[in-house]
Amino acid sequence: MNPSVYLVKGREKSLRRRHPWVFSRGIQRVEGKPSLGQTVDVYDHQGQWLARGAFSPNSQIRVRVWSFEQEDINVEFFKKRLQQAQGLRETLAARDGLTGYRLIAAESDGLPGITIDRYENFLVCQLLSAGAEAQKDNLVAAMVELYPECSIYERSDVSVRKKEGLKERTGVLHGEMPPASVVIEENGVKISVDITGGHKTGFYLDQRDSREASVKYVNGKRVLNCFCYTGGFGLYALKGNAAEVINVDVSQPALDIAKANAEMNSFDVSKAQFVNADVFKLLREFRDAGEKFDVVIMDPPKFAESKAQLTGACRGYKDINMLAMQILKPGGTLLTYSCSGLMDNALFQKIIADAALDAHRDVQFIERFEQAADHPIDSAYPEGFYLKGFACYVK
Ligand code: SAH
Repeated sequence: MNPSVYLVKGREKSLRRRHPWVFSRGIQRVEGKPSLGQTVDVYDHQGQWLARGAFSPNSQIRVRVWSFEQEDINVEFFKKRLQQAQGLRETLAARDGLTGYRLIAAESDGLPGITIDRYENFLVCQLLSAGAEAQKDNLVAAMVELYPECSIYERSDVSVRKKEGLKERTGVLHGEMPPASVVIEENGVKISVDITGGHKTGFYLDQRDSREASVKYVNGKRVLNCFCYTGGFGLYALKGNAAEVINVDVSQPALDIAKANAEMNSFDVSKAQFVNADVFKLLREFRDAGEKFDVVIMDPPKFAESKAQLTGACRGYKDINMLAMQILKPGGTLLTYSCSGLMDNALFQKIIADAALDAHRDVQFIERFEQAADHPIDSAYPEGFYLKGFACYVK
């Protein structure tokens, strides 16, 4: 028998809508003494069974649901979830020529706290919750069975693990150590991924669809690619025949890979520059020097990690977007993104509108972007939507 969690009356509503979280304030009592990440059964106040999930004693999200069916959480369960996720990815891989994609997007794929990215024959996991950690052996066994050709590497070096009472951890879980560069392909572009040392699990797979969509704006244009990481939009700009691409980032290792990526794709590297600079400062320098661009790409890191940071984040987004508009030629294009889940589409659009007022430019929204399809949004879990963007025509 699993330990039991009984909810306060009325707190079962979200579970009945198959939302996978139980907050600590919704719990009336716990029977049995569940350990960190142990599987528990959740009941409503009348004792009716609702769901089976993992107990996180140190987190406000006290239970994360594995299943709304009375099934064992074992190797077979993880195999089933992986297979459910695989179908969508296979379709996308065939459609977009992908050898790298997100295989498991946590809650959005029915596996709270677990992300798995595939880069060629390396599967890279992030285990973010106590439940994910407790089920590690079952998860890895399922992956080994389904993907015998793959090595498995853990990149659980993320600070959110602290909230769950877990330490950061990285290392090989099965098979070989990833080499310094694993080359993946998406939409005909080759990209070198540093699995052990790169950001997150090595690459920003979530921007793939937006990168591909950017191609139609760049032909013959002078492009400024802010926050370029390992090339990203800048590689697609070269693919799209941009006249000139200036890539900017503060990470020299990322810039080195960006340059190597441009060379590996046999793009005309003489059209590209790789500049180590702080975007906030460089944009001001460009503005004051009267530099002008046809296209500015603005893909910053997450500015808001918590609600408390949202106001500051809004200021940051407004500032860089205002500066971007100021250095655009009349009739230029701004491609701008926010990966802060706490900022919804409407708020982001409002910030762009405020930036336009401050920049004294007339701006029209001409296309909208979302996270790539291998980062799906489950209908029961709208929080899975975090990445949004606009193409703006700047008069
Ligand atoms: N557009 C990229 C992903 C960008 S991730 C892609 O398609 O792959 C955000 C990047 O911003 C990181 O590479 C980080 O090093 C960089 N960064 C963070 N703060 C910065 C700053 N103030 N100036 C320049 N780059 C910054």
